[in-house]
Amino acid sequence: MRMIDLKDLSVVYSENRSALSHVTLHVEKGEFVFLVGPTGAGKSTMLKVLYREECDIQGMVKVMGFDIPSMHPRDVPKLRRSMGVVFQDFGLLPNKTVFENVAFALRVIGAGRREIRSKTPEALDMVGMTHRCDAFPNQLSWGEQQRVAIARALVNRPSLFIADEPTGNLDPDTSMGIASILEDINSTGTTVIVATHDKHIVDALCKRVVAFNHGCIVRDDPNGRYDIEEKPQVS
Ligand code: ADP
Repeated sequence: MRMIDLKDLSVVYSENRSALSHVTLHVEKGEFVFLVGPTGAGKSTMLKVLYREECDIQGMVKVMGFDIPSMHPRDVPKLRRSMGVVFQDFGLLPNKTVFENVAFALRVIGAGRREIRSKTPEALDMVGMTHRCDAFPNQLSWGEQQRVAIARALVNRPSLFIADEPTGNLDPDTSMGIASILEDINSTGTTVIVATHDKHIVDALCKRVVAFNHGCIVRDDPNGRYDIEEKPQVS
C-alpha cells in the first residue's frame, strides 16, 4: 500500500478558480518530498486535503489506505492519529510548559501516564529541546517554538509527517537545524511531506521536489532543487 495515492484531484473554491487542478501524485512509504511553488500555487491546499481539513474534493485521494473523499467523519480522528502535522500557526498552549504541550498531544488521544512519561522526553530529545522542557512558549524563540511544535507532532510516532512552511521566519542557520530534524524524522522510516519557500533547505537536502504552479504539478524531480537549473547559454 502506498502512503499517498492521488489521481485527478481537483479542489475548486469558487467558480472558475481551482486551488488544485487534476493533480496526480504518488508517494511511497518512507519518502521525503518537498512541495514548492509560488504563493497561491496550491501547496497548503494539498496538505489540507491529506489531513482531510479540505473536504470539497474531486478525484481519488488515498492516504495510508484511507479513502479521503468518502471518509465518514467518525473515522477522521483515526486518520489524524497516524499523522503528525505542523501548520504555520504553531498553536502551542500558552499556559502550558514545553513538556506539557507535547504531553498534551498524547493525553488527548487517551494515552496513560506511563506512556506519556516515556514518549514525551523522547520527542523533546529528538528536536533538541530537553533543556527547555519547563519553559513556557512565550519564553522561547521562534525557532524553539517550531521545534516544540515538531515534537508535539512526532510524539505519537506517526507514519506520515506533514509540515507547512516549517522554516518560515527563521534565519538560515536555524532553518538548517529544523531541516536536519526533518531528515532525522525521515530516517526513522516516517514519510515526510514539507511545503516550503525555503530554497536554502530544499537545495541542501536534495530530496524529491514536487513543484506546483496555479494548482498544477509542473515538475517532479527525484533529487531536485528549488529552481529548475538554468541551462548554460550557447554563444
Ligand atoms: P500556497 O499554499 O501554495 O500558497 P494555497 O493552497 O494556500 O497556496 O492556495 C491556492 C489557491 O486557493 C489560491 O489562489 C488561494 O487564494 C485559494 N484559496 C486558498 N484557501 C482558500 C479558501 N479557503 N477559500 C477560497 N480560496 C482559497
